Amino acid sequence: MTKKDGFSHPFLNILDQSQNYIDNIISARVRGDNMYQIEDLSYRYSRNREDTIRGISFQIKKGEIFGLLGPSGVGKSTSQKLLIKLLRGYEGRILYKGRDLKACKEDYFDEIGVGFEMPVHFSKLTGEENLNFFKKLYKRTIDTDKLLKRLGLYGDKDKRVMEYSKGMKVRLNFVRAMLNNPEVLFLDEPTNGLDPKNARIIKELIGEFRQGGGTVLLTTHLMNDVDELCDRVAFMAGGKIVETSSPKELKLKYGRRELDLEYEDGGTIVKSSFELDGLNNPSFLDIIRNKKIITIHSKENTLDDIFIEVTEVKGHD
Ligand code: ADP
Repeated sequence: MTKKDGFSHPFLNILDQSQNYIDNIISARVRGDNMYQIEDLSYRYSRNREDTIRGISFQIKKGEIFGLLGPSGVGKSTSQKLLIKLLRGYEGRILYKGRDLKACKEDYFDEIGVGFEMPVHFSKLTGEENLNFFKKLYKRTIDTDKLLKRLGLYGDKDKRVMEYSKGMKVRLNFVRAMLNNPEVLFLDEPTNGLDPKNARIIKELIGEFRQGGGTVLLTTHLMNDVDELCDRVAFMAGGKIVETSSPKELKLKYGRRELDLEYEDGGTIVKSSFELDGLNNPSFLDIIRNKKIITIHSKENTLDDIFIEVTEVKGHD
């Protein structure tokens, strides 16, 4: 029983207070678990008149896959570049494991792995020579052969990259992002240009990275990837964050909450839809009680629908 029910009792007040206490402990813990804490971050490219990033705040927790989403040109890559220290001169604060990112030195680059959308490799070198070149930049590296095998590239590692297909370059790019055994992975469209089988392997590897305690910041247009991978997402529009949520909560919030029914009536199949919130209406109950149901399922907006709704409507506020 709650206050909503119009019932009040001193015991409930005590419960309320202890709930507040527990909430405070939990939120302090969550703060402590933040890999990144971004506070009121703004950035303007020197040749531009307006800010590209306009005061964004969000947290990325340790061990989560965080999706940064939104249409082209809203500032996703710029945000990533700020977090990997490729761009400097921003307003606001970026904390990495509680430390100001500005104070993090070269060691920081040993802890992060970066896979940009456009793979840049030395095309005259072989796949393996490329990896060996980048391995020299890091203190610790992994045995990349295992990953090459997993990604079906092991047999091609001695070929020059100029002979690689686009998909092979994308897969090599992923190995490069992983080669320093990073704590955080920054991935921009990691499955772009891959066939479904290789896209699946990359997604499995990202999932395994998270299972092993790794943290991921992912940007992608592919809402399927988001649905499968992301624990939480932030939608960007117009250089701002307009929504932060989990894919499941987004679907609940923006979902149409309808129930579709197919049932048999006098030898024909009839289709009907009902609002999920009003299922005690007589015609629904009549069908459920008296007809032969063929299919029944609740309808949810897909993340694609939600992407368009959130970024278009809120982006034009
Ligand atoms: P997204 O990754 O969401 O597609 P970007 O972060 O790449 O967006 O770009 C955001 C905006 O910043 C775009 O309008 C883009 O033209 C602009 N921009 C990106 N890079 C530069 C740059 N080097 N100089 C000036 N403007 C830039």
